[in-house]
Formats: sequence, structure tokens, C-alpha cells
Amino acid sequence: MVHQEEEGPWVFDTRELVRRPGTMQTAQHVVTLKDLIGTDVMGIQPGQQVKLDLRMESVVEGVLATGSVKATATGECVRCLDPISTNVDVFFQELFAYPDRAAHHREVGADDEQDEQRELVQDMMDLEELVTDAVVTTFPFQPVCREDCPGLCSNAVLT
Ligand SMILES: [Zn+2]
Repeated sequence: MVHQEEEGPWVFDTRELVRRPGTMQTAQHVVTLKDLIGTDVMGIQPGQQVKLDLRMESVVEGVLATGSVKATATGECVRCLDPISTNVDVFFQELFAYPDRAAHHREVGADDEQDEQRELVQDMMDLEELVTDAVVTTFPFQPVCREDCPGLCSNAVLT
């Protein structure tokens, strides 16, 4: 038996789908974050709940993961340092290839992009990196509380 708790909240068992193209499973999970996703400037803090909607679809090359994550990210305005929070609603789709398929790709010298391909490990799908990447790329590089935030300087003038 595989205990999902030991594998982490982002790891899903695909054994029911493996080598059965056309079959599908869906899962809805609420994950309580153990580790920060993002940075202190903008991130989903540990202890926050992340809603995961997942569809796992068996295809010839592996298992296709399609889904979305919803959460609240918090951070601070880079200009005035006020706390800000924003809704995260991110879509993702990624193929988790069977290891033998992925190995074959490498042998035939497929292009570099294929080297980034994710693989199933012992029929388990680990979404953590995928979700982290998908979420972080939606964060603004320099978050502001509002577009025309005057920042700290003008506050200093007023006082
Ligand atoms: Zn601000």
C-alpha cells in the first residue's frame, strides 16, 4: 500500500491508469502548504490552503495531468510596503511520460525541450514542481498595492 501522506500532498497514484489509454480519473484536493510557494515579496505562505482540481488522463506516452490550483497569495507592495493579497487561479497541463518512453526520447536525441519532460516514478505523479512553477510565473516581479501607488517618499513628504 502506498500512503500518500508519506509521499507528500502533491503526489498522486496513477496505477489505475497506467497502460490503459483512454481511462481517466479526477481528484479534488485541498492541500495545506508546508513550504512557501514563491518569495516573501509575493507568495503563498505555509499553512495556506491550496485547492487543487486535477484530471489525470491515460494516453499512449504516459499520463496527462490537467488541472488548476486556487489559493490566496500574500506579499507586500514594493513601493509603500503595505501588505497585499491576491487570488491565485492557475491552469496547468503537463504530460508525465512513462520512464521507458522518456528514455527512448533521450536515446534518439530528441530536441532539448524533451529533456525537460516529466516522468512517472513508480507510477506516481509528483505535481509539486509543476504547480510551483505554474504559480510562481503568474506573480508580478514587482507587486504594487495599486498601479499609481506613490510609495514611501510621498508619505515622508506628508508627515
Ligand atoms: Zn503601495
